[in-house]
Amino acid sequence: MSCIFCKIINGEIPSNKVYEDEKIIAIHDLNPQAPTHVLVIPKMHIACADDINDDNCEVVGHIFAKIPVIAEKLGLDGYRIINNCKESAGQTVMHLHFHLLGGKTLGEKIV
Ligand code: AMP
Ligand code: ZN
Repeated sequence: MSCIFCKIINGEIPSNKVYEDEKIIAIHDLNPQAPTHVLVIPKMHIACADDINDDNCEVVGHIFAKIPVIAEKLGLDGYRIINNCKESAGQTVMHLHFHLLGGKTLGEKIV
C-alpha cells in the first residue's frame, strides 16, 4: 500500500502524534496553515469523503466525537474543521482526513 497516511498509521513513516485510539489517529500537519494544524485520520483506508457510506460511516461519527477531546488537549478554544474531497477541491493525500485548525482568530471565510 503506497498510501502515506496508511504508512504513518502502521508506523513506517514517523509523525508527530497528538491522539490515537483503536480507530483514529491525529497528527500535526507537516506544513501548518495555522498555529495549530492537526489532521484527524481514520485508521481504516477510506480514500475521500465521497467514499463514505453506510458500511464505513461509524468511524466518521467517532472522529467528530473525539475532535472536542483533541481540541481540548491542544488548548483550542474555537477551531475550524476542513475536509478537501478529491483533487478538484485540493485533496492531495487520498486517505480521508479532517483538518483541525486553530490557535489564532481565523478569518470569516472558509477559503
Ligand atoms: P489535503 O491537501 O487536504 O489532502 O491535505 C493533506 C495534508 O497532509 C497537507 O496539509 C499536508 O501538509 C499534509 N501532509 C502530507 N504529508 C504529511 C506527513 N508525512 N505528515 C504530516 N502531514 C502531512
Ligand atoms: Zn491510506
